[in-house]
Amino acid sequence: MTTTAPTTTGTNETQFDRARRVIPGGVNSPVRAYRSVGGAPRFLTSARGAYVTDVEGREYVDLVASWGPAILGHAHPEVVRAVTDAAARGLSFGATTPAETELAETVVERLSVAIPRGDVRDDPRGDALGSGVPQRLGLVDELRLVSTGTEATMTAIRLARGFTGRPLLIKFAGHYHGHSDGLLAEAGSGVATLALPASAGVPEPIAAQTLVLPYNDLDAVRTAFEAHSGEIAAVIVEAAAANMGVVAPLPGFNRGLTELAHEHGALLILDEVLTGFRVSARGFWGLDALQTPGGAVDYLPDLTAFGKVIGGGMPLAAIGGRREVMEYLAPVGPVYQAGTLSGNPLSVAAGLATLRLADATVYDRLDQASETLQREVSAALTREGVAHSIQRAGNLFSVLFAERPAVDYADVQAQDSFRFGPFFHAMLDAGVALPPSVFEAWFVTAAHDDEALGRIIEALPAAARAAGAARPS
Ligand code: PLP
Repeated sequence: MTTTAPTTTGTNETQFDRARRVIPGGVNSPVRAYRSVGGAPRFLTSARGAYVTDVEGREYVDLVASWGPAILGHAHPEVVRAVTDAAARGLSFGATTPAETELAETVVERLSVAIPRGDVRDDPRGDALGSGVPQRLGLVDELRLVSTGTEATMTAIRLARGFTGRPLLIKFAGHYHGHSDGLLAEAGSGVATLALPASAGVPEPIAAQTLVLPYNDLDAVRTAFEAHSGEIAAVIVEAAAANMGVVAPLPGFNRGLTELAHEHGALLILDEVLTGFRVSARGFWGLDALQTPGGAVDYLPDLTAFGKVIGGGMPLAAIGGRREVMEYLAPVGPVYQAGTLSGNPLSVAAGLATLRLADATVYDRLDQASETLQREVSAALTREGVAHSIQRAGNLFSVLFAERPAVDYADVQAQDSFRFGPFFHAMLDAGVALPPSVFEAWFVTAAHDDEALGRIIEALPAAARAAGAARPS
């Protein structure tokens, strides 16, 4: 009998040698490489709950969670069942399906709130609010499904340019919005890990359409709007930055951005690809814009990008926003966007199952697991006298090797990054897989039970010692 299963013999090192012969750098996404920490990446063969297993049969407590999607833990039986049931009905139709509408309805409903009329600061839908008297107001009126977060932000930008008829975009240093041409300048994630100021292959005229500003600095945004009056289509911002490690917005920053954008006729694009449906049922917007006295909505972006959790571990992402803007998309409007596999039935099944299962108990569990780890990591580093700050945004967190918390990319770059490699490898040796870069968030799942957390906590003293003993190279 022939088999289609990949060969899973050998060690991580031999697998890496084999991969490098046929795959650039041996990885299909640079963040998976161990460039900044050294050594061969772990070649995984399976994942379940809070654990992943490598080709050598070693099990690790996983704090990568597929870079975010796996909030329920890996291979949740109900999600797997939803996907296999969908697979049995056909892998891809290239046609409309009832399930896509159900997913869009679920998202629209989940991101809408009951509010007293007029209780939205700076609402671009002011007139509609006055005349239509909506009792519920949503972050998203309509949703277009795509396959990756990169497509979602890329489309949101095209839509903003099409809607406003303007060319320029503001982004923030250290923020990552995927790998489309205009978004790679001073980007976070793998671009930060590899210390690239930008990517080769992006023509200068395209790069020049993006103004890169320091994060958490509203004055810089105000100045840019004044200097480029009538030319800026949109401001794109991670709802909470989490691709340079975690750097939360200062209180009022996202609201201030929204106000400035609207004052100058531009749109606000909130990137919730990483935070959406992870830090709360309503993403970071739910923590940041809805926690106001009296339940008013503090700010309302025009477009929001989703990814990761919305696809439950399958390739699925989305752009949502207010109807007036969304209906600029083809086939209703003039802004073109398409995808052979958009709204793929397996991805939609995984996303729907994940969102249905992500109830208050799941978010409580994520918050508790995250808080426990934050406390334990900090205690271990303090015992070894290692200067650090725990950076957090909801249940997302990362460790900054500096005394003072970071508020922007310059702060993050100034930390003692050399401590991370030894810390990472000590954790890995003890069976805990962290994201292999100091510029990435740590991801917990609802499957991180006391046993999994216990294994991580046991690994911390040696890792903190290794971080303390590290010297700059
Ligand atoms: N936006 C943010 C905030 C992200 O964290 C990412 C990926 O990590 C993206 C966009 C791009 O998503 P994808 O990797 O699915 O293209």
